Amino acid sequence: KAKRGGRATYRFFSADIDKLAEERLMHSTALREAIASEALTLHYQPQIRTRDGAIHGVEALARWHDPVLGEVSPSKFIPLAEECGLIEQIGVWSIKLACQQMASWRRARLDIPCISVNLSPINFQNVNLAAMVAQILAANDLPAKMLMLEITEGVILNERATVIATMNELRNMGVGLSLDDFGTGYSSLSRLAQLPIDELKIDRSFMRDFENDNGTRAIVTAVVRVGQSLDVAVVAEGVETEPQRRLLAELGCDAMQGFLFARPMAASAFSRWLLDYSAHRASLMLRQVGRAL
Ligand code: C2E
Ligand code: MG
Ligand code: MG
Ligand code: MG
Repeated sequence: KAKRGGRATYRFFSADIDKLAEERLMHSTALREAIASEALTLHYQPQIRTRDGAIHGVEALARWHDPVLGEVSPSKFIPLAEECGLIEQIGVWSIKLACQQMASWRRARLDIPCISVNLSPINFQNVNLAAMVAQILAANDLPAKMLMLEITEGVILNERATVIATMNELRNMGVGLSLDDFGTGYSSLSRLAQLPIDELKIDRSFMRDFENDNGTRAIVTAVVRVGQSLDVAVVAEGVETEPQRRLLAELGCDAMQGFLFARPMAASAFSRWLLDYSAHRASLMLRQVGRAL
């Protein structure tokens, strides 16, 4: 009886796997074409400095619109790209496009201190990464400090000498390094102190229970303190509500990012948002000065 069940299960799985493999092949072909065309783009989400509401930076997030599949989330296609050998290309593509965009915003005199680009741990295993980044920065006439590269905590977990060497190389060039989704992995605090990083991003899963759960609040408080004592900027992601913002401000979290401020937007929408935001902020400050007089 068990045997028959087993075989049936096997057949079921086998058909399932064929279908999955077929789907994966189809999607990886579509993704390959998307990289070559305009189908892959970057959207931009602002990061707000807590102290005074100034722009801390902007994060570039990949977007894929496929004519058949529709909008495919990066949490789907990035793992696919890692599996089918396309992540190298996506890494270079995103750094290039983000730097071109940043250069064009600079020419337009938009005041954005820094652009953050997400990279996969695999990208940090490439010994040519730092040289490639240097070339892209030079081609766009951008100072290295205007680029921040985000790495997930996982990069540390399956740590390899090449990854740390590449991180040090980038940091020596003046490129910033940010530890993304912090708190979801297992990196120890002692390890953290040794890492060449400039910024910590508190994972957005902590925001959900932040207001009501004392445990979550204790963790977020501790992360902010650790950042302060290691002289690493702390950015909270996924900030959606005013009470969350207020609490983070009280804790002294350096910067925030989330739907409360703005969703990730196409480049042109981001420029418009920034102009509106800056004008609004300037008029608020004028009113404050007026009240003080
Ligand atoms: P991430 O780097 O942690 O990016 C933050 C994610 O949270 C983004 O999802 C963003 O749209 C979303 N988000 C921002 N504010 C809020 C909020 O207030 N509430 C909620 N619920 N979500 C918010 P997205 O764009 O879907 O990206 C998912 C992940 O895919 C990213 O997480 C990043 O790990 C990865 N990813 C995105 N673009 C790239 C890329 O170009 N290269 C690589 N390697 N990974 C990328
Ligand atoms: Mg990120
Ligand atoms: Mg994150
Ligand atoms: Mg994330």
